[in-house]
Amino acid sequence: MPTDYYELLEVGRDVNADDLKKAYRRKARELHPDANPDDPQAAAHFKEVALAYEVLSDPDKRARYDRFGPEGAAGGMGGGDPFGFSGGGGGLGDLFDAFFGGGGGGGFGRGPVGPPPGADLEVTVEIDFEEAVFGAEAPVTVRTATACVTCEATGAKPGTSSNTCGECGGVGQVRRVRQSLLGQMVTTGPCGTCGGWGKVIESPCDDCGGEGRQIGDHTYTVDIPAGVDTGSTLRLSNLGAVGPRGGATGDLYVHVRVRPHDRFERHGDELLEELSVPLTQAALGARLDYETLDGTEELVLPRGTQSGRTFRFRGKGVPHVQSRGRGDLVVRVVVATPDDLDHEQEELLRQLAELREEPVAPAETGLFSKVRSKLRS
Ligand code: ZN
Repeated sequence: MPTDYYELLEVGRDVNADDLKKAYRRKARELHPDANPDDPQAAAHFKEVALAYEVLSDPDKRARYDRFGPEGAAGGMGGGDPFGFSGGGGGLGDLFDAFFGGGGGGGFGRGPVGPPPGADLEVTVEIDFEEAVFGAEAPVTVRTATACVTCEATGAKPGTSSNTCGECGGVGQVRRVRQSLLGQMVTTGPCGTCGGWGKVIESPCDDCGGEGRQIGDHTYTVDIPAGVDTGSTLRLSNLGAVGPRGGATGDLYVHVRVRPHDRFERHGDELLEELSVPLTQAALGARLDYETLDGTEELVLPRGTQSGRTFRFRGKGVPHVQSRGRGDLVVRVVVATPDDLDHEQEELLRQLAELREEPVAPAETGLFSKVRSKLRS
């Protein structure tokens, strides 16, 4: 059985994503255990084809396989701990584990591990209320690692290359044999010379010191989707730090913080405003120009509007992030009692109280009250 992923899927090394998917579907149908109840090898073969497709259909993993895969397949067959050096796991190692369990075994050998993956990064972006509602493009700056341009992420001085490690012979693992009271003890561990990589760099790149990457501040423009809120986190694939020597790139997590609005409060996808309206408009009714986030709308207060009554503008709230449509804008009316009546207004209101036979406090008299009405009229 071929162990080369391209051979497994019967495709050329330059196969494009579409043809790869077709080839995988064809092989999967052919090898599916349900279609081969009498063939005990079919299940194992099916798993290998699935693994091959999982690797080759991911551009990052495919690139890594193209660089490190053949060695991995030809490497040592033993168990041992392949994660001894990176500590991070990830990459092909995880895949092998997912398919074959942590205990090793199965058809594939565990050769040297690829370079460790880069870290995921986090950053917080603060945006305006309207930007959260309508979406925006916001710049974020992160300190990150990017591939070294000088050595093209290999870590080796241009014109030189990495060599197979002399200590472990490129396997990445070394066996240590020692005598003990119980007899010979054999342990396997990551090679100390190459750190499990299987290769060593004789002449490191001057610009990155052999890391294959450089640390610096980078600014990315983040597409903020409409409807995000404080606490939303966006995940930008492959905008994290690149791993050393061409290791996989991590992701960038952008946490969103939204500045408050001076009028609107947000409750999920609904916008809320408490609107103060004068007694006269509430009692007699009015047509008001009302500013929504989308522009001016007419708010019709019927005669006899009570404090606490709500009015709803459908679809003028916050867009749903997960589906189409928008929430509503809800206006809650609060009737304002006038506390700045001048003399004439007070007289009219007293007449009204008399007509409605509503007993009220007597008018204020004296110097103080006269001064106050003068100041106000
Ligand atoms: Zn370099």
